[in-house]
Amino acid sequence: MGEFVRLHGVSKRFGNIHTAVNSVDLCVKKGEFIALLGPSGCGKTTLLRMIAGLEPISAGSLVIDGEAMQDKHPRDRDIAMVFQNYALYPHMTVRANLEYPLKLRGIGREARAKRADEIAALLELGTLLERKPAALSGGQRQRVAMGRALMRNPKIFLMDEPLSNLDARLRMHMRVEIAGLQRRLGITTLYVTHDQIEAMTMADRVVIMNAGRVQQIGPPQEVYDRPANLFVATFIGAPPMNVFRAVDLPASVCSLRPDVVHVGVRPEDIVFDAEGDRPGFQFDCTVSLVETLGADSILHLRASTGHGEPELSIIARKRDNARALEGQRLGIWLPLSRIHLFDQSGSRIEP
Ligand code: ATP
Repeated sequence: MGEFVRLHGVSKRFGNIHTAVNSVDLCVKKGEFIALLGPSGCGKTTLLRMIAGLEPISAGSLVIDGEAMQDKHPRDRDIAMVFQNYALYPHMTVRANLEYPLKLRGIGREARAKRADEIAALLELGTLLERKPAALSGGQRQRVAMGRALMRNPKIFLMDEPLSNLDARLRMHMRVEIAGLQRRLGITTLYVTHDQIEAMTMADRVVIMNAGRVQQIGPPQEVYDRPANLFVATFIGAPPMNVFRAVDLPASVCSLRPDVVHVGVRPEDIVFDAEGDRPGFQFDCTVSLVETLGADSILHLRASTGHGEPELSIIARKRDNARALEGQRLGIWLPLSRIHLFDQSGSRIEP
């Protein structure tokens, strides 16, 4: 499948100094769901606004469906955008809100009503068409905002943190709903979020950004299993990956790769009371704190390094329900197959 959206070297500078988006390359296939994920201020929203045409591109090129977009007015880009505040008109009914974008384009009353009925059926808004936004729940307003964006049958759907105003339960529900709708419609979607669970559960591929730059692009499982650098390694996963300096670990670590500087292991990959017949590193630990989550618990451990002081702090997730007690001594095992190696620059290296 060819590329439908292509960004090449796309940058945004505000003033002369601040580069909010730094030379982003990205190809999106038709029908793909892409999540742009990163910490606050990393440039996600700015990137989305440049694609929508709401913000001029400082450098680089943007092609959508074979057409260069840089000089096109937002209205002529055939793109729909949903914002976190929904931007519904409070004095209009749901039907009037849905029809508004078509009315602006001079589409006749009958055609508008027909399309609104189709979209209402698709999003299960049929019983709400005569209500005003104030009489809707947060999730219903969200669906109306999405419905309105879909009225024109856009080429691309852009969403900027569309769930951030909803409570946790509704967010989980809407996550499934939006992902399902996107797959049913097959509409190419770029979705900005700082919530890794949203990105990981909804997207075909995740674009992880930091400080204006793309850190890694890949399917969620790949980004989790093979993070490209220390930033991605510690950004994806909760609690975050443990990262140790290689010099604090047993000397055998350096025999894996002479250029290894940092070694990472995820809390959920730590093995307890292993027999020791698998390749890896073993530590004797003391449990310093236990956080009980119900199905499993988070253990804060102190391990002696064999080099004397200082001790290593390690966070582990223990799945079984046998309780660990604070002060207890425990043997742990970091399996070689689950450890991540990074070089001086923080880039991933393979053993
Ligand atoms: P958040 O998750 O907090 O919304 P974000 O990743 O979407 O963050 P952006 O809103 O794209 O980040 O902002 C990227 C950087 O550009 C930030 O440092 C921000 O302060 C800056 N920035 C955004 N808009 C402007 C503007 N109009 N003028 C100057 N600087 C701006």
